[in-house]
Amino acid sequence: MKTIGLIGGMSWESSAEYYRLLNELVRRRLGGLHSAKCLLHSLDFAEIEELQVAGEWQRAGEILADAARGLQAAGADLLLICTNTMHKVAGQVEAAVSVPLLHLADATADAVRAEGIGRVGLLGTAFTMEQAFYRDRLAGHGLDVLTPDGEGRALVHRVIYEELCLGVVREESRAAYQDVIGKLVAAGAEGVVLGCTEIELLIRDEDSPVPLFPTTRLHAEAAVDAALR
Ligand code: GLU
Repeated sequence: MKTIGLIGGMSWESSAEYYRLLNELVRRRLGGLHSAKCLLHSLDFAEIEELQVAGEWQRAGEILADAARGLQAAGADLLLICTNTMHKVAGQVEAAVSVPLLHLADATADAVRAEGIGRVGLLGTAFTMEQAFYRDRLAGHGLDVLTPDGEGRALVHRVIYEELCLGVVREESRAAYQDVIGKLVAAGAEGVVLGCTEIELLIRDEDSPVPLFPTTRLHAEAAVDAALR
């Protein structure tokens, strides 16, 4: 089994999910007392969020690249960035190491395509929904990507930073997200990518009329596949 290196803490609420999922998936695949070989470098999310807001992506990328180097030196055979948003600096991280980085959008797009779906709604932070780095990566797999209107995007973004990253799960926010999903479906979305690693703490399959693609779970599954290959 290969050792999975996690660049996490963004937020730790979802990194904890990664840790649980990796171990559950390895146990399911290998049985008995088997668990995932993994290393976690958990960052202080407040520092990263400040750099996001300031648009200092280069500096944020340096911090993640440093973490990647440390994980490789500690024995990681492959790396995960445990947040969709910070895939904005995936290139900087990849350039810092020789082990492979398993890109979250690739794992997600593979799962969407496997369901025969071509048009998806995308929920995530404003960075993920509005900037090219993530949408283009999905589009590169032949997917047509729809995002909520301005009001919907602001709501989805606010709930991520003011609630989910702080471990707060509110019924009103679930209902508000369902409303946003409903509008995406009305606009033609055949599935919805939960393109922020905390959203699956709020939204489950039963909350949506179309298939959901929870990126934390899909990323963890792809990592376990790679680790056991
Ligand atoms: N975990 C979130 C994501 O997947 C948001 C936190 C962040 O900005 O990194 O995008």
